[in-house]
Amino acid sequence: MIYLRGHETDYDDWGWTRDDVMYYFKKSENQTGRFSSDSTHHGVRGGVYISDMAYRTDLSDVVLSAAEELNFPRVDLNDMKSSPGVMEPQVTARDGARWSTDYAMRHISPDKKHLHVLTNSLVEKVLVRGGVEAYGVRFRRAGGTGEVRARQAVVLSAGVVESPKLLMLSGIGPTRHLVHHGIDPILDLPVGDNLQDHVTTGLDLILLNQSLPLSEKGVLASPFLAYEYFLNHRGLLTHPGCEAIGLFHVKGDATPDIQLMVLPAGLSTDAGVVMRPDMHISDKVWSEYFAPLVGRQVMTMLPTLLHPKSKGCLRLRSANPEDPPLINPRYLAVQDDVKTLTLGIRLIEDFINTKAMKTMGAKLNAMPIPGCQNHTFDSDVYWECYLRHLTLTAYHPVGTCRMGTNPSESVVDHDLRVHNVSRLFVIDASIMPTMPSANINAAVLMIAEKGADSVRRVN
Ligand SMILES: Cc1cc2nc3c(=O)[nH]c(=O)nc-3n(C[C@H](O)[C@H](O)[C@H](O)COP(=O)(O)OP(=O)(O)OC[C@H]3O[C@@H](n4cnc5c(N)ncnc54)[C@H](O)[C@@H]3O)c2cc1C
Repeated sequence: MIYLRGHETDYDDWGWTRDDVMYYFKKSENQTGRFSSDSTHHGVRGGVYISDMAYRTDLSDVVLSAAEELNFPRVDLNDMKSSPGVMEPQVTARDGARWSTDYAMRHISPDKKHLHVLTNSLVEKVLVRGGVEAYGVRFRRAGGTGEVRARQAVVLSAGVVESPKLLMLSGIGPTRHLVHHGIDPILDLPVGDNLQDHVTTGLDLILLNQSLPLSEKGVLASPFLAYEYFLNHRGLLTHPGCEAIGLFHVKGDATPDIQLMVLPAGLSTDAGVVMRPDMHISDKVWSEYFAPLVGRQVMTMLPTLLHPKSKGCLRLRSANPEDPPLINPRYLAVQDDVKTLTLGIRLIEDFINTKAMKTMGAKLNAMPIPGCQNHTFDSDVYWECYLRHLTLTAYHPVGTCRMGTNPSESVVDHDLRVHNVSRLFVIDASIMPTMPSANINAAVLMIAEKGADSVRRVN
């Protein structure tokens, strides 16, 4: 996965100091790439391996040169202050293969003395004694139920969707909503509010006159790629999908507002096999917009809205733990979000017009998206229509168990303890009060390190 921390100003509103944030980023990280000697900004003793990409196409250098033409220098964005700027991304990988936190845990506790994992188990609620102290969880497994009792603390790390759901199923959440579902309320907290997500757009928006190796034929048709990956941990299959990354301040604020992720491909690249169903692209949009691009060289510069003003919410569908909750993301509900994303598209146009990108014949895909043909192509009105038809999640939801000081506005305190319940923590992306200017996994790792220190202090 792409490893990017965001900007130092992102965390000022969280109530954590910049020094603390940098300390825990460094603590989580085992930097093996080109920044490993920069001990001011990078750690080399953490559990998660961070490395340079093992493979990239020619597009990477072309886009980084284009950025320099536009006065966006090549920097280490993970120093958290050098934006606007661009970089070849770093990834959570070791020796060309993905490195995740579960590997990190096995690495830290190889004898498994301190780690017992129950797979195929669904936690259904937190056990709370007298409404004030958490003492374990109840779970379903193989048709039965079981309980796990905690000696020190219960930590929910079930993610932005399931952590708030579990709190509500346990009686912690908006009282009227819980009563509506027949759940005995313990604590009235704004669980499920404050849902935020990065949205992005611009799929297949750039056409090139040169071919790149990340095509349907390139990826699917070559057994040598699999051979190269499994034997040497090298080659196209190590590719994270992204060639260059940049943080920009299109509105001139101190905090970046648009991220560009450069992909040497588009939705049409796999001819509709994987990405089309994954992204729920309708038959009409596929056949009229994407299908004509199959076999042509497209690329994508995803402009991602880093700090959406639109906020959604999550609520229970029922009191059954197996029911998925109801989610209303309210994407682009606030008009200012459309304006910022439109500025992101204008930024892409600046890139397309650089000498560097013209060497690859870059031009805007001028085919109007179905539903927007009545607007003049490339007008602001057209782009608003386009955005409202082709904006997608970047899979970075946060915020449903928001951290803060006031229990009427937040769910956990600055040590990630649920307000007014002892021995109960939430430690995952759901505690973020606001969004980082980055893909969010690095911030989740930082939160986890900080949360682990809070749990250690419980006696
Ligand atoms: C397709 C995709 C691509 C992404 N790419 C990137 C990227 O390149 N870079 C980046 O920074 N971020 C990326 N992200 C985002 C990143 O993966 C998430 O933000 C991050 O994993 C969130 O971590 P978390 O610990 O909050 O939740 P999760 O990683 O979702 O972990 C929650 C865990 O809890 C378990 N769980 C949930 N409910 C229960 C229950 N009731 N009982 C038992 N277990 C339960 C789940 O199975 C899961 O294992 C991507 C996300 C997606 C979906």
